[in-house]
Amino acid sequence: MSIDTPPPPPPERADFIREIVAADLREGRHTTIVTRFPPEPNGYLHIGHAKSICLNFGIAREFGGRCHLRFDDTNPEKEEQEYLDAIQADVRWLGFDWGEHLHHASDYFEQLYAWAVHLIRAGKAYVDDLSADEIRTHRGTLTEPGRDSPWRDRPVDESLDLFERMRAGEFPNGARVLRARIDMASPNINLRDPVLYRIVHASHPRTGDAWCIYPTYDFAHGQSDAIEGVTHSLCTLEFEAHRPLYDWLIDNLPVPSRPRQIEFARLNLTYMVLSKRVLLRLVNQGHVRGWDDPRMPTISGLRRRGFPAEGIRAFATMIGVAKSDGVVEIGQLEYAVRSVLNRTAPRRFAVLDPLKVVVENYPEGEVEEVEVPNNPEDPSAGTRRVAFSRELWIERDDFMEAPPPKFFRLAPGREVRLRSAYFVTCTDVVKDASGRVVELRCTYDPSTRGGDAPDGRRPKATLHWLSAAHALPGEVRLYDHLFSRPNPGACGDLLADLNPASETVLQGAFVEPSLAEAAVGQTVQFERLGYFCPDPDSRPSALVFNRTLMLRDTWAKVQAKGRPGAAG
Ligand code: ATP
Ligand code: MG
Repeated sequence: MSIDTPPPPPPERADFIREIVAADLREGRHTTIVTRFPPEPNGYLHIGHAKSICLNFGIAREFGGRCHLRFDDTNPEKEEQEYLDAIQADVRWLGFDWGEHLHHASDYFEQLYAWAVHLIRAGKAYVDDLSADEIRTHRGTLTEPGRDSPWRDRPVDESLDLFERMRAGEFPNGARVLRARIDMASPNINLRDPVLYRIVHASHPRTGDAWCIYPTYDFAHGQSDAIEGVTHSLCTLEFEAHRPLYDWLIDNLPVPSRPRQIEFARLNLTYMVLSKRVLLRLVNQGHVRGWDDPRMPTISGLRRRGFPAEGIRAFATMIGVAKSDGVVEIGQLEYAVRSVLNRTAPRRFAVLDPLKVVVENYPEGEVEEVEVPNNPEDPSAGTRRVAFSRELWIERDDFMEAPPPKFFRLAPGREVRLRSAYFVTCTDVVKDASGRVVELRCTYDPSTRGGDAPDGRRPKATLHWLSAAHALPGEVRLYDHLFSRPNPGACGDLLADLNPASETVLQGAFVEPSLAEAAVGQTVQFERLGYFCPDPDSRPSALVFNRTLMLRDTWAKVQAKGRPGAAG
């Protein structure tokens, strides 16, 4: 290490995987840590993948190693260039960089083929003519051993010849497979002569028509790890039972390194479904508008919704890594995201359901600018100037004609503060023929400019507002959970659990003029309403905002409940 390279910082936190990695370094089993994130390009990444990305790239960063992005592209019928591109964009957006190490299992097809031949020669693999169904029935069950295929003992030369002809395209899909020759009586079903290669006449996004046989996940994964010098191959618990096969292949092939597979619990979240297969169905059947629909648990959906990458990383840190599966409350994700947004999101005024206010004693035609802080949590964010005039918009539900005892906002005869502007008092209520309130008449107190009274009186409520002549119209899309139950599909019918109110579109909203320039991806706080961000559909002439999250913090409340003296 050169003197100007600082040593890697100590790991931010310990978990059982980081402990293993630290010990491997300490005890000299490795000098450089290499991890990989291995998505199959058959869909967009979701928040579960984000956990794996933060773990793999995080460990590499913390221990001064590197993390590869490797596409597990062994299933050409389900894989597309669109997914390859989207996955790279999402990993980058999350804040991680694989440097030169963008790899594909398909880069290794020739090597994998050679290793398959190696196994056949060693009597450790054979071409099987049984159909997929027959292989399944021969496999046995957890309590019964499997039965040998009649082709299990076919001569090595015959298998070599057939395997070569499989590659040459002589046989149709499913006619034959290559299987490892391990143990049909193994208590681990994955060791009962697992399939290593199958015939798939399909064009591959990268290798085109060069191949019509493709390795299975099990045959490709560990060997790709070994080729790349991956030291720690981190995967989710469903692969635990595959580990003996992973190790068997590494032991029986002349691979250049010995990676170690370690399993961790996958992320499950309430109100969400984390499965590309299911998400693809939601997209294809039109239950959402696409993979990046703001209601989707995909990284691109969360981004469009306004979740900052930092919030997703903070969530990954918060939930940690465990060895047994569990379900995380969606409130924890929202809590992590709100914590970041509360600190970083500029405050802006917007009125979602506008009610006109006319300030009768304010001069007609006059406009003044009041100074409003951009973020009370962060004085360095500065202030902005917002136009105030005689006709204003306030939120319809900030007024009640006959307020119940705990309603402190505007009502006839009552004074409230308009944030950073003036105190106003409601003097009259104008209604239309149907009795609906269409306008409030108010007076203001010129001595309260900026929001404080010289005599020290303090209204019980502070409202947000907009000058009617200056406000810009906009569409606002309010989002709620895509599913209405915490465990979608538990009753057997996933679609029945779709939340019919997951999206509400408001057409008549108004926003501050400064929001005309807000960039896609820039999440702001609409004061008192929540976090919002411009949607990619937004145009200067037709602004569109998505509600990222409401301000209310249910998770914090749930936690506070347990504490003595906490407000319930
Ligand atoms: P899905 O079931 O959504 O299709 P997958 O596991 O088939 O997911 P891959 O593309 O194979 O998707 O996953 C890439 C990596 O992400 C794997 O190492 C996998 O273990 C990890 N991963 C997938 N889902 C989760 C999850 N919910 N939590 C944590 N890691 C996950
Ligand atoms: Mg998979």
